[in-house]
Order: sequence, then C-alpha cells, then structure tokens
Amino acid sequence: MVVIGEHRHTQVTVDLQAIKNNIQQEMQRKDALTELWAVVKANGYGHGIIQVAQAAKQAGATGFCVAILDEALALRAAGLTEPILVLGITEPEYAALIAEKRISVAVGSQEWLNQASAVLAANNVKIPLRVHLALDAGMGRIGFQQPADLAATVAQLRQANTLFDFEGIFTHFATADQSDDTYFMHQLAVWKKLIAVIGELPRYVHVSNSATSLWHQACNGNVVRFGVALYGLNPSGTALSAPYKLQPALSLTAQLTFVKRLAKGQSVSYGATYTAAQDEWIGTVPIGYADGYERRLQGFHVLVNGQFCEIVGRVCMDQLMVRLPHEVPVGTKVTLVGTDGDRTISLQDVADYCGTIHYEIACGLAPRVPRVYLD
Ligand SMILES: *Cc1c(COP(=O)(O)O)cnc(C)c1O
Repeated sequence: MVVIGEHRHTQVTVDLQAIKNNIQQEMQRKDALTELWAVVKANGYGHGIIQVAQAAKQAGATGFCVAILDEALALRAAGLTEPILVLGITEPEYAALIAEKRISVAVGSQEWLNQASAVLAANNVKIPLRVHLALDAGMGRIGFQQPADLAATVAQLRQANTLFDFEGIFTHFATADQSDDTYFMHQLAVWKKLIAVIGELPRYVHVSNSATSLWHQACNGNVVRFGVALYGLNPSGTALSAPYKLQPALSLTAQLTFVKRLAKGQSVSYGATYTAAQDEWIGTVPIGYADGYERRLQGFHVLVNGQFCEIVGRVCMDQLMVRLPHEVPVGTKVTLVGTDGDRTISLQDVADYCGTIHYEIACGLAPRVPRVYLD
C-alpha cells in the first residue's frame, strides 16, 4: 500500500509520554472510584486514534469515547476490549452490529429505542445493546429534555432487558470552560431534576468533559470523559488555568525544500500580495492548506533555527514561503507547532491567529501528514 506523505519531510510528532502524564495527573486528582474514559474521536483529535487509545489505556484509562460508530469499530478492530461509548447518535439500522461488538451508544429518544428494538429482534441478537441515555440539560444538542419522556424510556429499557442493557446516563455542559458559572449551575440543576425521575441510577453516570473535570470536579459522577486535556491542551484556551501543567503532545515540523534570494521589489505567491521591501532570503516549506495548515496563516510565523520567521505571501495548497533572517541550507528543519531552541509555537498560538480554537487546528491536520510517535 502506498502511504501518501511518507516521502515528504513534513510530519506530526506525537509524544505519547506527554499524553500518559496528562492522564495520570488527572487520575491523581480524582477519587479512586471515578473512571477516566479517554475521548479519542476525530482520529484522537488528529493525534492518531489507535496510538492514543493504547497510550491512554497504559496510563490507566478504563474506557473510550468516540463520536461515530466507525471510530468505535476501529478501536475494536485494533483489539481494544474496554467499554467504548459513541457520543453522537448512531443509526438504529446498525443496532445488531453495535450490540455484537459490545459498543455502547448514546440514546436521546424513545423513537430510537423502538427502531433499534425492531432491528435487534429481526436479527435475533442475543447480546443486549448497551445504552447510555443522553440528557439535554441546556447544551441543546442531543438528549431528553422532558422528565416524562425520560421516565417512559427508562421504564421501556428496564422492561426490554433482553434487548437492552441500560448501562449509563449522561449529560454535557456548554460552559464548563468559562469563569462565569451561572449557566453551568443552571445546567447542573436541570440535570439533577432530570435524573431524579429515573429511580435507581445505572452503572455509569457521567457529566464531565475535560473542562468540567478540571474546574467543576465535584460533580464528576463516576466516569470522566477526558478529551482535549489529555492531549495537553487547555479546554478554556487561555481563560482559565489548569490545576496542573498540561503537556502538549503534538508538534508539526517540516524541512525547507528551496531557499533563494529575493531582490527588492519581487513578489511572493498567489496574488503577489507580498513584495520584498529590500533584498531578502526566502525559504519554501512543503506544507499548505491541504495539510490543514490554514490559508489564513499568512503573516503568522514558523521557527527556523530557534528564530521566528514570518510566513510571507499567501499560503498555497501544498507549500508556503517564509522570510529567513539569512541564508540557510535546504533541508533545515522548520517548526510550525512545537519548540525550537527557547521559542515555542503552540496550537493555541496558531488557533488565536486563525480566530478559532486549538481543537479545530489539531483535528484539521490532514491524513497526508504522517504521524510519528515518541514514547
Ligand atoms: C467531545 C466530547 C467530550 C470531550 O470534550 P473535551 O472538551 O475534549 O474534553 C466529552 N463529552 C462529549 C459529549 C463530547 O462530545
């Protein structure tokens, strides 16, 4: 099989030890009965789903969360036998497959259960389908909002216990990463009111993403869905500080493929939006917006030999140009995210420049960029 990107010196390096350290730091803060499930959706936030899942397991994670069914199937195919919860809504037509693979799914309506029941019965499935009921306490995305609907669904689940295993109940907070906790407290009250109608709680009760676990630990339930922070990224961006030092796991590097002297008045890249004010050295870097390095990053910087170098001219699909302080050889390392010498460019810096959040930059890094692992 041809691995596209293998023969280009542009790569993401993932420090698995950093991931393990972040998980262990979080586990030390929790009580012994609270489990940490590693959220590895979107190819492990761009870091590599299988490698991250295995590292997380070594560090003590006892389950995984993903966004879509295929991600859960990929973890099973890699031999991971821990609980796996699909956080989004799956298609009921796959109910038999989900049950057989012992995957847990989020369920947000009675209608879904009815459709899944029919599929399970038609396929004569012998393994109960594992269900986590999603409660919408103010996130407004998926889940039950009405106590009466919830109570009816719980009754149906308990009655159909050969088809379904009512394994969990959960909610998701919209503002756990903000210093103003007014809306968080409102959601917490709605959640408490909702779960009051179900009687005995199922085995897994969970409300915490990274931000909730870091800053509202008291309401964790007995599972934490630990996502972005395990990659060493602060869920709040720069708004709140984490209770321990998060270690970013990802760096992005390349090598200069072309270096030239540009005469005063010559221009660089599409649209000729950059013109040299004096004679200067320009290096070409083999990465572009097709790799997930956004076009909006014109004017931002990279690191070459520990020095910031401005990205000049438009970022192309596969290449970009930087202004060098002096001539450097082709093959010189370029750091787009990470540390070189005493300077660092974080995913947060890149995201700030793009007007977005680091989550989007990390999971936008394209499959064309190979992931290399350090342990
Ligand atoms: C993505 C997601 C998480 C993880 O969120 P982080 O902010 O990355 O910790 C947890 N729960 C749900 C429902 C999610 O969709």
